[in-house]
Amino acid sequence: MVKTVEAPPDMGPMIENIEAKYEEFFKSDLKYLPEQGRIELIGDNVMFIGLRTLALSLKDELDSVLGEMGRDMLMYRLGQSFGRSEAERLLPKLGLGSPVERIAAGPIWAAYSGFVRVRLLPGSNPVEGDDFFLVYDHPNNFEAQLWKGDGRSAEHNICYFNGGYSSGWCSVVAGVELEAEEIMCEAAGDPVCRFIMFPSGRRDEYMERIDEFKAI
Ligand SMILES: [Zn+2]
Repeated sequence: MVKTVEAPPDMGPMIENIEAKYEEFFKSDLKYLPEQGRIELIGDNVMFIGLRTLALSLKDELDSVLGEMGRDMLMYRLGQSFGRSEAERLLPKLGLGSPVERIAAGPIWAAYSGFVRVRLLPGSNPVEGDDFFLVYDHPNNFEAQLWKGDGRSAEHNICYFNGGYSSGWCSVVAGVELEAEEIMCEAAGDPVCRFIMFPSGRRDEYMERIDEFKAI
């Protein structure tokens, strides 16, 4: 029974296999070492960060220093650096074969990390190289959920950490620089947060098809 990513049923056994690997990590490779002031997970030190800190406090600080555009760009780059470094750290330890498996390991890890449950939509093409394309939802993700929960509204998309994280992970697997663009956002009143991801050099081509991807 798949726990994390919503995807076409034929991907079910592959997703379950990756979930089992992560659960084994948490069972055998997670050590709390408060006497050293450290938590060790799969051989690296990790730290708990409250989601409110990223979704609200940090964004407010960035907003006051850099303005809204600077804030959004920095949150995207922050997410991208998280996604990229997690992919570089974890993929060698997972022993996965195909690009599809290594791409899927990203959203599954994001669910185990505690910040999103991804829904992969039809039309996606998770392959290496320039034909890579994804269309996917991050329903109820922490950025939109906490923003709305704090009584805030937004005139445009705000889930830049989520977009950055997914593009960072997938760029490592695809071997090309990928961009994620949020085309619908719950914080701005849309029914879901929906993203498309494509190689940077093909941006114009995919952005012209936004209405088609919104209608999926
Ligand atoms: Zn959003």
